[in-house]
Amino acid sequence: MILIQNALVLTPSGEARALDVLVDGGSIADVVSRGAVKGDGMERVDAAGRALMPGLVNGHNHAQTGLSKGLFDRYNLETYLNAQPGATGSRTLEDKHLSALIGAAEMVRKGCTAGYDMFAEFPLPTADGVEAVARAYSEAGMRAAIAPMMADKTFYQAIPGLAEALPEPLRGQALKARYAPYSETLASVQNLLKNWKFDRERIKPALGPTIPHHCSDELLVECRDLTGELGLGIQMHVAESRLQAAVAPKIYGKSLVAHLDDLKLLNGKFCVAHGVWLEDDDRKRLADAGCSISHNPGSNLKLGSGIADMRAMLARGLNVAIGTDGAASSDNLNAFEAMRLACYVSRVKGNPPEQWVTAREALHAATEGGAKALGFDKLGRVEKGWKADLLLLDLSALHYVPLNDLASQIVFGEDGTGVESVMIGGRWVMRGGKLLTVDVEALRRKAEEAVARLRAANAEARALGEKLHPHVGHFCAGLSAR
Ligand SMILES: [Zn+2]
Repeated sequence: MILIQNALVLTPSGEARALDVLVDGGSIADVVSRGAVKGDGMERVDAAGRALMPGLVNGHNHAQTGLSKGLFDRYNLETYLNAQPGATGSRTLEDKHLSALIGAAEMVRKGCTAGYDMFAEFPLPTADGVEAVARAYSEAGMRAAIAPMMADKTFYQAIPGLAEALPEPLRGQALKARYAPYSETLASVQNLLKNWKFDRERIKPALGPTIPHHCSDELLVECRDLTGELGLGIQMHVAESRLQAAVAPKIYGKSLVAHLDDLKLLNGKFCVAHGVWLEDDDRKRLADAGCSISHNPGSNLKLGSGIADMRAMLARGLNVAIGTDGAASSDNLNAFEAMRLACYVSRVKGNPPEQWVTAREALHAATEGGAKALGFDKLGRVEKGWKADLLLLDLSALHYVPLNDLASQIVFGEDGTGVESVMIGGRWVMRGGKLLTVDVEALRRKAEEAVARLRAANAEARALGEKLHPHVGHFCAGLSAR
């Protein structure tokens, strides 16, 4: 048993109170008034001058982007997808593990204790690749839901008219790479689910059919049936960019969400990523089905995707999580920053101040909301019986000096530099500012070797992406504007 005493505890209602927290195994055994626990038989941790809060939950991330951060400045989602073969190709199994571990280490360092990860491999998800990512999260000590990305149409096949608009020989080159047939993808995913080695209370599998129109209806229905049978979650990018919303009526004669609803994919284990271009009817359908949505404001700003309406999501009763997205589109995997941005962007939607997202609403979304989206029970609160995923924040960090309102200063001021210690499932993974689970210096050396090798291996794919870039950008801008 561990008694964390003398901390200022952030309660589920967002108040700061002087309480002691008793941790037994992986859970919070009790939250009591200061000094109430007498006697020996436990490790006492003096957390005077620290705030204690639940770990943050990252609602959306991509493990494969850990090695491709810093490569994208003026890219929108479509030109970013066009550039992916050049950025994430030629990866070895060790690279896949390394990329995930870099991300997990950064998240823990910045106070994130659990995350939803849509991990991509091409031309299909592999049992070894997903296992390498799960192992990385496990080594870092994090909790995760890992959703292998699935698709059976490439970006060039999925966007109506795009391939036809490309000049030869670029069209032929762009269309050369194909995803595996959906039956092979499903067989591979079934295999990896059957052989899942990890404790599902820590690292659980989910499915990630990437974007509705990048997946055939057959693939989507198979995903629905598989998750239904096994009780797994699904995460999917829905209406992230204006183009995605614009192509839906052309392909389906209805919105993306209406299509998913007709295919009966929507339920309490379905999580939308982004949802920037949803109509209110879409939000209603998602809310009525009990879905979650990961709001990823940093990525939406960086890729120019737009501003998702978190107030409208909450008003419909949707469970909202907050995510960073991958390290190539929201580069620092900082869940505190994502939470702050969720508040900020709600203020430029043209809504009156009474409808702006408050610090406490953002905190709820980034903790309990995220936990629900990932499908973890009793996670995201400092409360008796809940999981002991906890952060200690150093109140001498200057953004807490002076301390007027803890919840508000966490959301508007914390940038990760105040995170002093991190406990996940009752185990310290960071103490006194030092990561205990990952050797960051070794990680950096391996990453430098990997990117030098990958830069050379992907030179041809990158050159093709660069040639395609203006054509893709021009065509997609035209399609989005219509
Ligand atoms: Zn994403």
